[in-house]
Amino acid sequence: MSETDDLRALMEADRWIDRVTGQKTHLPEMVELTALEGELRGLLKSLNEAQATLAPVRTAYEEAQREGDRLRTRAESLDKTLSNSTANVRELTALQTELQHVRELLERSDDLELEHLMAVEPLDEAVSAIKATAQPAVARRSGLQGAIAELQASLDDELVALGQQRTERASALAPELLARYEGAFTRVGTSGAAQIVAGHCDGCRIALSPLDVDRWKGQPEGTFMTCPECGRLLLP
Ligand SMILES: [Zn+2]
Repeated sequence: MSETDDLRALMEADRWIDRVTGQKTHLPEMVELTALEGELRGLLKSLNEAQATLAPVRTAYEEAQREGDRLRTRAESLDKTLSNSTANVRELTALQTELQHVRELLERSDDLELEHLMAVEPLDEAVSAIKATAQPAVARRSGLQGAIAELQASLDDELVALGQQRTERASALAPELLARYEGAFTRVGTSGAAQIVAGHCDGCRIALSPLDVDRWKGQPEGTFMTCPECGRLLLP
């Protein structure tokens, strides 16, 4: 293999590593997860709001229920006292007046309880609906998290293998040339060499001047001029 071939092999190895590293941080599953997490945050906010709206209405409903129970118990007790009573007329009249009053209160209390119940129901349904919407999203989220972890682990394995291959390819180069390559690589990343494709450096995409293209074409074997823009070694 020529020096150019060795250099190209190292460039390809670095470009592979760059591609796989990019894949690792740009998985389509990650895009979906980000969108899903945004959606879940919105649902959580709606849920909190719906629950905050529901709480006082439910409390009022429960209070009305308790008041109804209290009045019913009181009415039953008065009823019993009246039917078993041996009291005089004045006391009986007083008991009947109170019973009448308790029954009126109970009627109003029942109306109120029903009113509160009707207010609770749609709010309860709103809370349930939000939970029902969130449920599959939560399941999808954990599915995506698992898939991402798995994919990243397999890409990490691939990166280890590519790293070994890179080390082997780098060791095939003469130290001086490797130093030039690594210098450019450290400065600009991705790879330390590039090719000219249709008059452009395929490392930084800049168009080379006709003069530079002529220089590149005429360079003696094994000299490797650098790209005037990114400084990568330009392969013949
Ligand atoms: Zn360039």
